Amino acid sequence: MKQEIAIFWFRRDLRLDDNAGLYRALKSGLKVLPIFIFDKNILDKLEEKKDRRVDFIHQAVFAIKEQLNLFGSDLCIRYGQPEGIWQSLFTEFSIKKVFCNHDYEKYATDRDLSISNLCKENQAEFYSFKDQCVFEKSEILSATGTPYTVFTPYMRKWKDKMNGFYKKSYPNENYFDKFLKIEKSNCPSLTDIGFEKTEIVFNKPTLSKSILIGYKEKRDFPAINATSRLSIHLRFGTISVRKCVQYAEMFSETWLNELIWRDFYMNILANFPQINARLAFKKAYDKIPWRNNEAEFKAWCEGKTGYWLVDAGMRELNNTGFMHNRVRMVVASFLCKHLLIDWRWGEAYFAQKLNDFDFSANNGGWQWASSSGCDAAPYFRIFNPESQTLKFDKEMAYIKKWVPEYLSSSYPRPIVDHKMARERALKVYKEALNEAE
Ligand code: FAD
Repeated sequence: MKQEIAIFWFRRDLRLDDNAGLYRALKSGLKVLPIFIFDKNILDKLEEKKDRRVDFIHQAVFAIKEQLNLFGSDLCIRYGQPEGIWQSLFTEFSIKKVFCNHDYEKYATDRDLSISNLCKENQAEFYSFKDQCVFEKSEILSATGTPYTVFTPYMRKWKDKMNGFYKKSYPNENYFDKFLKIEKSNCPSLTDIGFEKTEIVFNKPTLSKSILIGYKEKRDFPAINATSRLSIHLRFGTISVRKCVQYAEMFSETWLNELIWRDFYMNILANFPQINARLAFKKAYDKIPWRNNEAEFKAWCEGKTGYWLVDAGMRELNNTGFMHNRVRMVVASFLCKHLLIDWRWGEAYFAQKLNDFDFSANNGGWQWASSSGCDAAPYFRIFNPESQTLKFDKEMAYIKKWVPEYLSSSYPRPIVDHKMARERALKVYKEALNEAE
């Protein structure tokens, strides 16, 4: 007779330490087989086959596999559509319980529903836990029991509610003997799953005390390495958000607030499903008659707008998959206000390029910049790329790095005049919003 087991299914929680669902699996009384599925439904949609994120995940998964091998266990790695993979797992193993962590994106919630149904059909119990954020869905509500749509009161309530229970790390390491002992199996290569190697290197993330201490003063200067660069790790769960909160509380309140923005946007996604339908959070903003000029969009994507800071940001993104937060705000504002291009075009471009792409944070960031989001920048706030440069890249170090030809004749002239574009945006936004009233 086959040994009865539990399965832990890794998704956006690619670590063995302080992992809520894995902890529950290890304490379930059954031996635990950990699995990871390279999901064809997601991978097939990625047009670029040299995708840093897939490479990053591949390396992170491989690192987990190596760790498990040290305990005589292994990570079972599959490639295909989750339903089919689970059907075959149920025929191979006697699975009694399945554990994972909640994933709040639409595709993920639909997928998990169908897998939990499949578990039922196979007489297995399906359990999912909060792990990705600190507070989820209905945990932070206003006095009237509704979700917050403004950040500051949300943040206050978040901090009031925070206590040792919510940020405590799970001591998974005490239960590593509960992993199922099995023979090592092969890990599909990147090529096996249809992708190519990139330059990205997965290193175990570290929390830097010195970065956090200097964060408040230096975080807005893109030429300085002064932010944590943990976004990709938080995205794929190669670091625990609870550990980040513990550090933030010790060393930087400002950094803690950024982690709360992350929770805030995840909660907006969970509580306002219209976000999935790509509608503006504030309906009136869907009345804006976007210009959507394709040539201008191309120039923006390629970092050829003739605005140094905008171009530096877009080139940083295209070359590395990362862009500094200050510059993300500037390029996003430039697209929806100076060029009057629908924020959804920019959102989609970021989704394709950002290593840390996360639907809730990206949508939140874009709707903030276009003024259509909850607690967004007011529509008349239009970043002036030149004054942003003077404020945040005065020595031009960031610009020189990404746009070395910025003073030469080969550098394009500005595709729009700032003053004209600003006035045009104010007029178009104002008229559309008045009309919608
Ligand atoms: P730090 O400054 O060290 O912040 C720590 C962590 O807090 C980040 O790693 C991130 O997880 C979280 N965080 C910080 N700022 C925000 C924010 N405004 N919203 C939500 N979470 C935040 N962040 C993403 O993780 N994924 C995205 O797809 C994304 N898209 C964005 C799009 C736009 C238009 C804008 C303006 C911002 C976007 N951000 C996104 C937020 C922010 O730019 C990045 O999280 C940050 O630049 C990552 O660098 P870091 O890890 O050094 O951040």
